[in-house]
Amino acid sequence: MYFARVLCASSVVVCAFVAPHVTFAVSQFPNTFITSKQQYEIDILAANRISQISEITSMADILIPVETPTETAVILERGTCPAPQIPDPLEDAISIQNINPDEGYDISYIPSDLVDISPHVPTKNKRVICLRKAAAVDLIAMKDAMKAEGLKLSANSGYRSYYDQYALHRAYAPTAKTVKYPRVAPAGHSEHQSGLAVDVASELAPGSFGSSRESAWIKEHGYKYGFVISYPEDHQEVTGYMHEPWHLRYVGKENALVLREAGYTLAFKKDYYMKPYLAVVLSNLKNRMARFDTMKLEIGG
Ligand SMILES: [Zn+2]
Repeated sequence: MYFARVLCASSVVVCAFVAPHVTFAVSQFPNTFITSKQQYEIDILAANRISQISEITSMADILIPVETPTETAVILERGTCPAPQIPDPLEDAISIQNINPDEGYDISYIPSDLVDISPHVPTKNKRVICLRKAAAVDLIAMKDAMKAEGLKLSANSGYRSYYDQYALHRAYAPTAKTVKYPRVAPAGHSEHQSGLAVDVASELAPGSFGSSRESAWIKEHGYKYGFVISYPEDHQEVTGYMHEPWHLRYVGKENALVLREAGYTLAFKKDYYMKPYLAVVLSNLKNRMARFDTMKLEIGG
């Protein structure tokens, strides 16, 4: 793991990805000097990963359910959601990166396909909330499924820029001093910067989401729509944050099932046993996102 730490220091974006994709990581740093000892460690890592990944691939094959499309045709628009000037070539890796107090996003990262969910999911004062396209589609499907059962899901927050997070964290600083596990991450360390995290709420029980019927429903069914609860109950030690039943991270349906089975979220800061899964997780999420590129969805603006 020594080599992984070296690369982490030079780029947090690649950090989570080093172990399963050693050659990929190295190619991002053509000028990185690699000693023969490090090369040896890379070879060992690569050999271990290959055997682990093949085991996990077969496990994931068993866990992946038959996909039944639940999405309804919906026109999503970018609206006033921001777009990067140049899409980040590491965006796929970023989409499954562990985010926690130790691992974070680059200041310049803006997701490439943000859309405004406010025309489709209730938001306070109809305010614009941006999510990446795949997360938006599945959130809308989840909200519709909940509505059919008499539940009312709304959204409070989605994508936040590095700067938004900086301001939020600064405002929260006095409170943070008084609690053991904070609620607000420092800039660069919030899953909200991924555009794949959403804070949801119950319109039937505003202000008490944890005890709402919507929360209970999401705990049981959220994974079917690709969402995991990043900061589960009794996991403060490994996430570094207090329990947040309303904070959901989109990982795609197949991954949500795998993560649920493993009792893991991408917000864990310790216990890296999930790292070998990341290659499988990435390919699942890429497939999920590619699906929406071919669907009849339009992004305007
Ligand atoms: Zn949140």
